[in-house]
Amino acid sequence: MLVVFLGPPGAGKGTQAGRLSAKYGLPQVSTGDMLREAVAAGSELGRRVQSIMDAGELVDDATMEAVVEERLRQPDAHGGAIMDGYPRTRVQAESFERLLASGRHGAVDLVLFLEVAEETLVQRLSHRRACSQCNANYHLEFKPPATGGTCDRCGGTLVQREDDREEVVRDRLAVYRTATQPLVSYYRTRGLLYEIDGAGSIDEVFSRADAAMAGAVSA
Ligand code: AMP
Repeated sequence: MLVVFLGPPGAGKGTQAGRLSAKYGLPQVSTGDMLREAVAAGSELGRRVQSIMDAGELVDDATMEAVVEERLRQPDAHGGAIMDGYPRTRVQAESFERLLASGRHGAVDLVLFLEVAEETLVQRLSHRRACSQCNANYHLEFKPPATGGTCDRCGGTLVQREDDREEVVRDRLAVYRTATQPLVSYYRTRGLLYEIDGAGSIDEVFSRADAAMAGAVSA
């Protein structure tokens, strides 16, 4: 089962993909997390992408394609995956189709499109904090850590991502509108798109995403 999360930054893709991953036993493939890990490790890839990410721009399609191809070859992804942050451009969507067709996965089964009003996105992102060690996400108001400034999961220090600063968030939203939003009609015309209202609590949105997923699993 190959599921793609689509939606603007701050729509809740990572949170919902994580919950579906736990429920359905499919790995969450977060390209953003993979790149952040590369940056933290100081690898060649990390050094190449850091300034692009900090500015809220997109990493080039060829690099992303290679990162995803390598990840989907890992044994835990043999039964499928929940894509969180990929594909993000039309070129990526097309090369993803070719990659899946040439391998064991075949094709995308379902695209979950999370819709959220722009002001809500800005509000969510500016209140987001991420663990500097394990990448777990928190929201200062709606999903605060038990002890301020520390990750509940691993005890790491919580920080604001460079690209969650308000001025960068506005740029990321503009990049989303230009580069990624066209994928909504791309997947709709293929009959794969399932639109989900991304407003409300994490549990409310999860029950909508889960209903779509359950429908696709039983189809
Ligand atoms: P995210 O955590 O998904 O918001 O991703 C953080 C940043 O990583 C993005 O702003 C991009 O710079 C980069 N990134 C993640 N996924 C992709 C992708 N599919 N294509 C290009 N850049 C990406």
